[in-house]
Amino acid sequence: MTDMSTTTRDHAGEAGQALLVVEDLKTHFEVPAGMVKAVDGVSFTLEKGKTLGVVGESGSGKTVLSRSVMGLNVAPNTHTTGSVIYDGEQMVGKTPKKMKEYWGEEMAMVFQDPMTSLNPVVKIGRQLTEHVRQHHNVSKSEARDIGIELLRSVRIPEPESRIDNYPHEMSGGMRQRVCIAIALACSPKVLFADEPTTALDVTVQHQILNLLATQQRERHMTMILVTHDLGVVAGRSDEIAVMYAGRIVEKAPTATLFAGMRHPYTQGLLNSIPKTDQPSHTRLSAIVGRPPDLINPPAGCKFAPRCPYAQERCHEEEPQLVNAVAVGHQFACHIPVGSPESDAAFQRNLEAGRPQTLAAAGRLLATEELVD
Ligand code: SF4
Repeated sequence: MTDMSTTTRDHAGEAGQALLVVEDLKTHFEVPAGMVKAVDGVSFTLEKGKTLGVVGESGSGKTVLSRSVMGLNVAPNTHTTGSVIYDGEQMVGKTPKKMKEYWGEEMAMVFQDPMTSLNPVVKIGRQLTEHVRQHHNVSKSEARDIGIELLRSVRIPEPESRIDNYPHEMSGGMRQRVCIAIALACSPKVLFADEPTTALDVTVQHQILNLLATQQRERHMTMILVTHDLGVVAGRSDEIAVMYAGRIVEKAPTATLFAGMRHPYTQGLLNSIPKTDQPSHTRLSAIVGRPPDLINPPAGCKFAPRCPYAQERCHEEEPQLVNAVAVGHQFACHIPVGSPESDAAFQRNLEAGRPQTLAAAGRLLATEELVD
């Protein structure tokens, strides 16, 4: 059996240091209709060995953000500015050729859909071992042993025979385990997991998320877990950044965020996920409306057209991230949840019959139920 320590760097003693420092990162895409500001001034710091949960609806910019940090947005219509310091080195401005030195060994990504990230006509063993052989000076049979060990480490049963399967011979959950094994093959320091369970059914989702958490712990990896589901990152991240319209609108250590979220969008995301203490047929409260047009976003707060608390000022003045009382907690909102102003604003909007406020109050749902 090949000694896996040959492919696993020792990360001990590195905790507490900033591995990734992102400052005012912007990724804009030039399209015929104008400039899509997909990521528009994002900053965060991630320490070694920690997990950051990046949460938002589709179109919030979370996937573009992780791809930008990895240098994967290489289309000619992409404009990336700002700074991504990885392990002391500036990544923004590096050519794809230069970035290749970082992919696999330093940063790796697990994508949403295992079926599209695996080559359907190549046996999974070759897809795994090619990766290992590209980065390490090992023979074919040594690479195969490493591949088998990787499959074992992601809990694939009978890895000695499974290594000769084609992707279609495996279930969706198994295929995602293979993708995780490929991502882990060169012991990256940072693992990006972009909606890694979206294509899977609920029970398998839990297994895959737990597997990622175990691998992160055992390998002392730093992880960025990207998801639309606040519930997914609740027990699996050290810190959470909530994104809306290309910006971080709230950021806090996980326990702090759940103890006292201040941004109405974060509150909306939380209200849209099922809770274990709710009766099984409880209707969830969706956030009314759609994310804004990122070419011509609304003036002021971009969440204002959907926000149950929005007042005149919100439509005129864009809120900036400010520090909350709790250490490490920041939010960008003029009328934060939990303040006396927010209660008054909510009441005013309720009386005015604003749909987003009615929905948040549960009245729309009650009316729908009557109509049903
Ligand atoms: Fe809502 Fe206003 Fe806060 Fe924006 S600034 S989230 S519109 S209360």
